[in-house]
Amino acid sequence: MKLFQSATLRLTAWYMLILTVLCLLFSTIVYNIGSTELNRQPPKGGFGRYEATLGDDLQDYIAKERETRAEEASHRLLINLFMFNVLALSTGGLCAYLLARHTLRPIAQAMESQARFSSDAAHELRTPLSVMQSEIEVALRSKTTSKHDLQATLTSNLEEVARLQALTSRLLLLSQTEKITVEPTRVDEAVTDAVNNVVSSAQKKHIAIENSVDKTRALADQAVLADIVTILLDNAIKYSPKKSTIRISNTAKGKTVRLHISDEGRGIHKHDLAHIFDRFYRADTSRTKDETEGHGLGLSIAKRLVTAMNGTIQVQSAPGKGSTFTLRLPLDK
Ligand code: ADP
Repeated sequence: MKLFQSATLRLTAWYMLILTVLCLLFSTIVYNIGSTELNRQPPKGGFGRYEATLGDDLQDYIAKERETRAEEASHRLLINLFMFNVLALSTGGLCAYLLARHTLRPIAQAMESQARFSSDAAHELRTPLSVMQSEIEVALRSKTTSKHDLQATLTSNLEEVARLQALTSRLLLLSQTEKITVEPTRVDEAVTDAVNNVVSSAQKKHIAIENSVDKTRALADQAVLADIVTILLDNAIKYSPKKSTIRISNTAKGKTVRLHISDEGRGIHKHDLAHIFDRFYRADTSRTKDETEGHGLGLSIAKRLVTAMNGTIQVQSAPGKGSTFTLRLPLDK
């Protein structure tokens, strides 16, 4: 916030400097043109035949009077220009400050969200690291640690390493938004790639994946679309009971392709629905059950990636009734 204030003041100072230079330049030009015009004497014989009829005294008087008036007028011009500058610089100063705030606000918000994200990510990374550290310390401290105990420690450490790997690869996905190239893409091909990514975890729970996506083309990045569908399928598998079915289908409406991913899982409570796309948000039930490991990053990443491809993501769900996630992407005509 302090940085934001000082950056705003610095930008305001720059705007003011530019405004002052412009005002001074404008005033100098106006003053010079004005004084030249005011001091211009009428051409000799400008009064034609009347000039000859005027006496010398009268002519001197007229010339002096004209000079005094020109001086007064140029004095008034100077005062008016001064007033104009004071007004322009004071209202300009206020506008410059508001403009600087308006210009810098999105940058400040992005920096704030970046800082929040870094601290959340660090927190998530620290948990498995602390678990590993304490397990290793216990194993090293004990003089009676058997080979079996060591194996148990290493197995547990390996699980934490897997958690760290999953987390870091999700974090890496977030940096992909800059590299996205949107082009005509076969939706079914992206879905097949995603299904291949999750097929082994689906098999472990005997979950069937019914894929009826046709050859529709969307304007998307195929690899990124496959990543998004992988995230949604990962969740569908995580939050579904054994021997259930996940269905993937597509429909088209107007200029939009809709991709539906439905599961028969535990569904999502109404009060969680508004938050599940937030970073690091996990419904309470997800935190308490061991088998549903996660970091609350998947859906926020999916939403960010789909938005970067000019699409949207929505969910329809109710507790115990399963969930349907719908991706909308521009159709390639
Ligand atoms: P994670 O799965 O790692 O917790 P996500 O961002 O992918 O993080 O999901 C956020 C939350 O949304 C999950 O914790 C879970 O409560 C809920 N959720 C996501 N997908 C589903 C689903 N298919 N069925 C039920 N709940 C889901």
